[in-house]
Amino acid sequence: MFPASQRYDRQIRFPGLGEEGQARLGQAKVVQVGCGGLGSTLAQCMVRAGVGRLTIIDSDAADITNLHRQFLFDEEDAEKKAPKALAAAKLLKKADSDAKVSGIVAEFSAVNAGDFLPGNDLVLDGTDNMETRYIINDWCVKHDIPWIYGGVLGATGMIMVVLPGKGPCIRCLYPDAELIGKNAPSAEHAGIINTLPAFIASLQATEAIKLLINSPDLIQDLRIADLWSGDYQRISVNRDPQCPCCGKRRFRFLESAS
Ligand SMILES: [Zn+2]
Repeated sequence: MFPASQRYDRQIRFPGLGEEGQARLGQAKVVQVGCGGLGSTLAQCMVRAGVGRLTIIDSDAADITNLHRQFLFDEEDAEKKAPKALAAAKLLKKADSDAKVSGIVAEFSAVNAGDFLPGNDLVLDGTDNMETRYIINDWCVKHDIPWIYGGVLGATGMIMVVLPGKGPCIRCLYPDAELIGKNAPSAEHAGIINTLPAFIASLQATEAIKLLINSPDLIQDLRIADLWSGDYQRISVNRDPQCPCCGKRRFRFLESAS
């Protein structure tokens, strides 16, 4: 058993966080949808930073093709086809035996979103597809819960913080759901370098920490990074009054649940 004052000493010393920030993190409840490349780093950062509770939802089993970029899993997990949500929770408990981290083996959907998301302060996107992100976006905008988008492919990734009622949502950015959905390229087809998910998830986790401690330094725009070329972009995204989700409050991606 290690006292929190020791465990978090180095981040408490960081002026942006401090003791007050650490105390707020300790009260925070976070749910993470997906535990692959992004999710491995998200979960590590959330638990090790000291969030009060982390729930990890993932339906996949670990596979040898994951290991180059999904840093929570090992060969034994891949051989056993261990459910990622459970393997992640087990490993994180080793890092912090006091951590309240739970893994749920389930395929996140419009039907079960209402079972898993309520009661959380923040939803983290560790998914690999836009369909799931639209469900998260609809649910979070409808229920006024912030979420943090992260996307990765090849060597390029992006993040955006979605603050319902205050800033743009993901459908202000990508209004045409049909174009983005099922035909979008995946890591299986387009490949991915192993530094990218860790990098993008680190940006997401940093924004998560800032958001959870009410930091005024939260970023408000879309950030895109190409790690191969080393190019970084900031793109401002405006809230669209005609947005079908946050503008017109039509939550079509939740409709299958009703
Ligand atoms: Zn919107």
